[in-house]
Amino acid sequence: MSDTYLELVSGGLPATIAKKLGLPRPVRLRRTDPDAVDRPLTPGPVLVLSDEAAADDADAVAEGLLGWDLDVHRTPRLGDHARWGAVVVVLTGLTHPAQLAAPALALAPALKQMAAGARIVTLSRTAPAPGATGDGDPAVAAARQGVDGFLRSLAKEMRTGATANGLVLAEDLQVGAPSVRGGLRFLLSARSAFVDGQLLPVAAGGAEPADWARPLEGVVAAVTGAARGIGAATARVLARDGAHVLGVDVPAAGESLAAVMNEVRGTALQLDITAPDAAGRILAAARERYGHLDVVVHNAGILRDKLLANMTADRFEGLLAVNIAAPLRMNETFAAPGTLGGQGAAPRIISLASTSGIAGNRGQTNYGAAKAGIIGMTRALAAPLAAAGGTANAVAPGFIETDMTASIPPVPREISRRGSSLQQGGQPVDVAEAIAFLASPQAGGINGQVLRVCGQLMVGQ
Ligand code: NAD
Repeated sequence: MSDTYLELVSGGLPATIAKKLGLPRPVRLRRTDPDAVDRPLTPGPVLVLSDEAAADDADAVAEGLLGWDLDVHRTPRLGDHARWGAVVVVLTGLTHPAQLAAPALALAPALKQMAAGARIVTLSRTAPAPGATGDGDPAVAAARQGVDGFLRSLAKEMRTGATANGLVLAEDLQVGAPSVRGGLRFLLSARSAFVDGQLLPVAAGGAEPADWARPLEGVVAAVTGAARGIGAATARVLARDGAHVLGVDVPAAGESLAAVMNEVRGTALQLDITAPDAAGRILAAARERYGHLDVVVHNAGILRDKLLANMTADRFEGLLAVNIAAPLRMNETFAAPGTLGGQGAAPRIISLASTSGIAGNRGQTNYGAAKAGIIGMTRALAAPLAAAGGTANAVAPGFIETDMTASIPPVPREISRRGSSLQQGGQPVDVAEAIAFLASPQAGGINGQVLRVCGQLMVGQ
């Protein structure tokens, strides 16, 4: 689906007029070049700043970035015409909110010299859990929680496709841990183009891949709803990253499913996910073709929008059956010990939620219930999946340009597009990149979480 306004104002006279009138001026986002994945990782040099007590952590982060062949600086001085590709702000030493002022003010001048598609990434610590060491110190809790509001506000000030996100490290997790480096690399890269204004909690776990360009080499992934939209893009990105893909969709979409699976050299399985034996058939097809199944992406979903006052039973019940009851039933099989994972790959269940399941959306009581249900299901699966050495996470897209959103009337569609910090909708590939990241070994420290891919569209979590 195309965004005509974005195409129009992305250059020349229309861009100048839009600027004069104070209209939104979305730009084409920096996305991964399929022929040169992650090269270069950032669109310019990287500045590493820190709070006073986190200097050692900042040194370690800078050292790690040098290992990725980046041009790393520790002071905010650049030539007049140079532009920062990224700024990493290490805030792991904060014990009082007042200590945030120094790194924030050191960052300020750099913001005037950011490249298009640049990244800001904060590294901070999780607020102490009730009962944990330090949970009684309001200043520590305020400082750590303060990063949340700082980062979300900063993301709203970024321009030209630049984003600001953060990693929130579990207590005692080192900044050089594989899970931190994996999350940092994702947020710095073009893969996170439509992830904005978000803090992602990371714990220990996972491993750096042998090849960052193909982290899913040998992994077998099943994707439901793979015939079009986000599912088709996910199949392509997983295959690009090295995975074998089993694509599932309803028989009516058989032709497009076959086309996508031919393109990614995957396997097509025509199947309605509401069938009671759906999980067994997916598992059997994967094992027959590849010997094992490692990753399941619950992507298939439908919309049946109506105000609740006008809602019919078939719209409410039919939506719940596809969007939440089917993944729940399938997970009785997939989450059972010994089902997913084989030949070194860890079990991963990744489910499609939606920002409608977090912030709510008019006309979507059924959809909101199902998608919030996906988040509840994901949190409950985290412990059993961890016990099997795996993870369960959800991805919550905001407004993504697909056939599904093309059915939304023009005015709310336009409002959804321009309402994000990036002033545009996302592309299916943006969601696919987040799914592929959560499937990768370097995301092994992220479990039970919801990763939004919404360009900071919504207020709230
Ligand atoms: P889409 O309608 O373009 O594609 C969905 C696919 O799922 C279709 O190929 C369809 O045939 C398949 N499908 C539907 N019911 C099925 C069933 N019972 N069994 C097997 N396959 C089935 O949708 P999309 O926009 O690509 O969305 C994909 C997922 O992302 C959905 O879960 C959706 O709710 C979620 N999502 C999308 C957006 C967005 O803006 N597009 C936003 C938030 C969440």
